Amino acid sequence: MRIATIKAVTEAQLCTGCGACASIAPERYRMADVTDHGRRPIPCSATREDHVERELLEVCPGVTLHHDEKTWSKGYDREQAAGWGPILEVWKGHAVEEQTRWEASSGGIATAIALHAVRSKNTHGVLHIRSRRGRAWLNETVLSTTEADVRAATGSRYAPASPVESLHLVRDAATPTVFIGKPCDVAAVHNIARKDRTINEKVALTVAIFCAGTPTWRGTLEMLRAMGFDDPESVEYLRYRGHGWPGHAAARGKIQGRATEVKFTYDESWNRILSRHRQWRCQICPDHTGEFADISVGDPWYEPPKEGASGESLIVVRTERGARWVEEMRALGVLRIERVANDVVARSQPNLMRVRGAVWGRLLALRLAGAGVPSFRGLPTFRFWLREIDMRAKLQSIFGTLRRIGSRGLRKPATMAPMDESGGDVTNANPR
Ligand SMILES: Cc1cc2nc3c(=O)[nH]c(=O)nc-3n(C[C@H](O)[C@H](O)[C@H](O)COP(=O)(O)OP(=O)(O)OC[C@H]3O[C@@H](n4cnc5c(N)ncnc54)[C@H](O)[C@@H]3O)c2cc1C
Ligand code: SF4
Ligand code: SF4
Repeated sequence: MRIATIKAVTEAQLCTGCGACASIAPERYRMADVTDHGRRPIPCSATREDHVERELLEVCPGVTLHHDEKTWSKGYDREQAAGWGPILEVWKGHAVEEQTRWEASSGGIATAIALHAVRSKNTHGVLHIRSRRGRAWLNETVLSTTEADVRAATGSRYAPASPVESLHLVRDAATPTVFIGKPCDVAAVHNIARKDRTINEKVALTVAIFCAGTPTWRGTLEMLRAMGFDDPESVEYLRYRGHGWPGHAAARGKIQGRATEVKFTYDESWNRILSRHRQWRCQICPDHTGEFADISVGDPWYEPPKEGASGESLIVVRTERGARWVEEMRALGVLRIERVANDVVARSQPNLMRVRGAVWGRLLALRLAGAGVPSFRGLPTFRFWLREIDMRAKLQSIFGTLRRIGSRGLRKPATMAPMDESGGDVTNANPR
């Protein structure tokens, strides 16, 4: 399938939903919520193959992820680089503030960095996502400049979110801004900063949260239905994790007119429902740990959480800039962290290494079938396909994908119909 416009990226189901194209070319694309895909750029007018579309495709992480080792900070761990990108240091720990740690998904490191950014004179604030005000089951992008804003965005939301759609706010801010997002969101910011000097100067730091895949809106709707909320609009509060580690998904709202709160364990929410609804592009994602970020944070699953335990985070420092932030925050007593071996990343996320192997077989199947294929450079997959997965998984990665190409209709352009008014908003939550 030929991909010459952003519209074609979405039709080939290669869009991650980051929002970069809508931020750069708002006259061409606006982000909207599409039930069975996620947040997607919807054309504002007829699309044409021209230089603007070519420039958008160069920064679109859905189709372009290219590492340039020459630009990596000196001293990165060469042994880990093929599977996990540049790693300078790995730490384990948590935010010192108990409220942050309790409310966060893991150890509250992302929120602690965001709080540090809004308290600092040198940074304007943080661009990230939160539960949408007035429609709690959806998400919105915000540029937080106060502690209250930051705290309202604490916690991982296992649903579509487009933090890059408001990157223009970073350009307009007087001082640099911190960016927090998933690995593909950070890759989009990285791609843009490579070409745009202003954005490069205005982004103070990028923080990626580890990500095994974004469930579509169908996932959230199904989870809410299993909780007893048939009408998502009746939900006044929704979180997916936090309040302990890994914490609970919790929804509050009215069921048959009565105020109700329902909690699901991580197993009931993620393992049994949400993970089954991951968007297609996530199935061929080679970067689940934020290889293009200054700092990435995830769960240190190598030590399984104990019942009732407070959260812990794994902190992967990838650049010298990231190392400076971590050291400053540690010295100020904002983070309680200890240095661990670099291979703790692999020990914490062994499933992600197997997924990277399977990606090679899946891409091969897409090529054989003539479906849309992204361009990944410097993110090796073949050696992990050979080494990390057994023969059954090897065959499954190719033949299972060929089957899915048929069942998901990956050879035909997919239609991106925004949710109707009864199901959700169709507009960009962050108008310019
Ligand atoms: C879709 C998804 C998949 C995940 N898969 C993994 C995984 O495979 N392995 C793993 O270890 N952890 C995974 N996580 C969890 C997450 O990476 C960790 O919890 C991470 O350590 C952040 O913890 P924290 O306590 O530092 O973050 P917090 O302090 O709770 O802050 C979270 C920050 O992330 C931002 N954010 C929340 N949801 C999103 C979103 N959907 N898109 C962009 N930004 C968002 C918020 O704005 C906030 O700034 C996933 C999270 C999501 C949303
Ligand atoms: S991945 Fe991002 S830049 Fe690419 S089409 Fe989707 S929203 Fe646009
Ligand atoms: S799995 Fe990859 S493509 Fe999918 S949301 Fe996560 S980082 Fe983005």
